[in-house]
Amino acid sequence: MSTTKHYDVVIVGAGPAGMCAALYTGRSMLKTLVLERGIPGGELLNTEKLDDWIGEKSILGWELAKKFEEHAREFGAEFVTANVTSVKRLDDGTFETITDVGDRYTSPATIVTAGGTPVKLGIPGEGEFAGKGVSYCAICDGAFFREQVIAVVGGGDAAVEEADFLTRYASKVYVVHRRGSFRASRILVDRLHANPKIEVIWDSVAEEVEGDAGGLMTGLRIRDVRTDAVRTLAATGCLVFIGFRPNTGILADHVEHDEMGYLKTDSIMQTSVPGLFAAGDLRSQLTRQVTTAVGDATTAAIAVEKYLKARAEGHAVDPQGTGGYSA
Ligand SMILES: Cc1cc2nc3c(=O)[nH]c(=O)nc-3n(C[C@H](O)[C@H](O)[C@H](O)COP(=O)(O)OP(=O)(O)OC[C@H]3O[C@@H](n4cnc5c(N)ncnc54)[C@H](O)[C@@H]3O)c2cc1C
Repeated sequence: MSTTKHYDVVIVGAGPAGMCAALYTGRSMLKTLVLERGIPGGELLNTEKLDDWIGEKSILGWELAKKFEEHAREFGAEFVTANVTSVKRLDDGTFETITDVGDRYTSPATIVTAGGTPVKLGIPGEGEFAGKGVSYCAICDGAFFREQVIAVVGGGDAAVEEADFLTRYASKVYVVHRRGSFRASRILVDRLHANPKIEVIWDSVAEEVEGDAGGLMTGLRIRDVRTDAVRTLAATGCLVFIGFRPNTGILADHVEHDEMGYLKTDSIMQTSVPGLFAAGDLRSQLTRQVTTAVGDATTAAIAVEKYLKARAEGHAVDPQGTGGYSA
């Protein structure tokens, strides 16, 4: 039987942003609910190892996820496994969050931290070697490819820029692109062509990630779309940059977003809908890392606390984020 429950704040998603927001709202004594469709951890659960979480020279993704969850629970946040299908603002300014089994949760403030999903190639070996050669994040995993030959797949800004960045570590970077020219901006393309460590393979698509019995990637099989000729690049890494989809489909109302679909916020992480906050990977910003996700979440959670206080007193929250209230 479906239920309706009320909370001070509902958080959608238990990745780094959601769990950090829950820690702060729980600590502010707000009745906090975190709705997560899978196991808490978000993209951390797809990350073998992190070496850029400050304070830990190296930590396994699942281990950091577990620590985040334990810490958030310690401050009273309630976690429920549920797939959210809709977040809607009601006439009285509160939010109704609905799950796929029809459960309803109402709250005067909601933080959406549903992250996003890198677009996958969908080829054999991609899943098997994810985290063991296949990656979707250059900043995160670049350092693991020191002095190795790797392949970058894609032809947009992200692929071209990250290929150049990866030459700091890799001895050689192939860029495999399905067309005969890049979609990326001119300045990035010029930089890429000037880089002697990069070889572009035009008009070719990745067909299979190959690996050894030990579970490590050994090559990327590619096919020339003009001639159908197939060959294997001896690469131990495959960095895929063919798109990233922010998980914003659950928002029932129109919320301002950028041209890529990422949610726009002000400096206190409030979206264009008052009381609806966003943090982490689904927010429009320069970079997407665990540190930025938890930074956003900290701001959002503290802003929610101020928003609820101001709402109770009949004021609006100062959008400049100075902590004061505007009348
Ligand atoms: C392969 C890989 C390696 C990475 N390595 C690093 C690294 O080394 N260092 C680093 O700093 N960053 C790394 N990143 C980036 C980092 O993981 C993200 O920036 C970070 O996880 C973003 O946190 P988030 O909470 O915004 O989103 P996510 O981690 O994506 O979490 C979102 C959560 O929301 C849930 N959710 C989505 N929709 C719904 C719904 N409808 N209902 C309920 N729940 C929902 C998801 O299940 C998920 O748990 C890596 C990313 C990838 C993909």
